Amino acid sequence: MIEISKIKGLIFDFGFTLFYFEEASLKKYINCYQKGLQKSVDFLFRRNILKTESIKKEFINKFNRMQNEIFKERNKGHQEYPTRTLFRRICRSMNLDEDINEEVWEELPNLFHSFEEEEWIPFENTHNTLTQLKKVPHLKLAVLSNHPHHTMIEQVLNRYNLSQFFDEIITSAEYGMRKPHIDIFDYTIKKLGIKKEDKKNIIMCGDEYADIMGAHRAGLQIVLIEREYKFPYEKDIPLKDICRIKDISEILNLI
Ligand SMILES: [Mg+2]
Repeated sequence: MIEISKIKGLIFDFGFTLFYFEEASLKKYINCYQKGLQKSVDFLFRRNILKTESIKKEFINKFNRMQNEIFKERNKGHQEYPTRTLFRRICRSMNLDEDINEEVWEELPNLFHSFEEEEWIPFENTHNTLTQLKKVPHLKLAVLSNHPHHTMIEQVLNRYNLSQFFDEIITSAEYGMRKPHIDIFDYTIKKLGIKKEDKKNIIMCGDEYADIMGAHRAGLQIVLIEREYKFPYEKDIPLKDICRIKDISEILNLI
């Protein structure tokens, strides 16, 4: 059981914990990425970095191939490959990187994630719940997201005026490792300024295996937010008697 009065920190996952996608499906995600890739490639074409249609095509093929490899690899080692790194690797492999300035490097991942960014919507009770939590004295709040582009998470939180509630916004893109690797949980705790011996007084609230098993191994309390849509290849959580909620506002009953 969670000892409520002692809680010092609350860490939220981003996707399907604070925010959701309408009509979520793997197909919808892939569609956003494909449109984003096309937008990034058109941008490079307008800048005369990709000079012909066939070079554009080659770029798209390389990107898709490398991204598939990354998806497979990151499930094994939990290392994150930020989208900006992926663009750099492909441009380097095509000898395009010398023509690219800092502004373009910044813009490419923003364009790539721009369609996805539009889709994320906060749950109906996200804002209210965070408003209430912010009033709890000495309670630290963080977002901890497995996402390959840190700026997108910040921009979505800003768009809905939610950044103000968090002491820290941590992403796998920024840290380099993904949940469930315990190092990213330790990093978050350190950033929040909570002592290691107070780990058990921190709650991780998330909707999937990576959140729950990572936090469990890191020695945190866990709250599973049950979502309706099940993604393919999803891992079951091999823990009994965990605290489960259906709506983010239910977390207020625990604090
Ligand atoms: Mg999630």
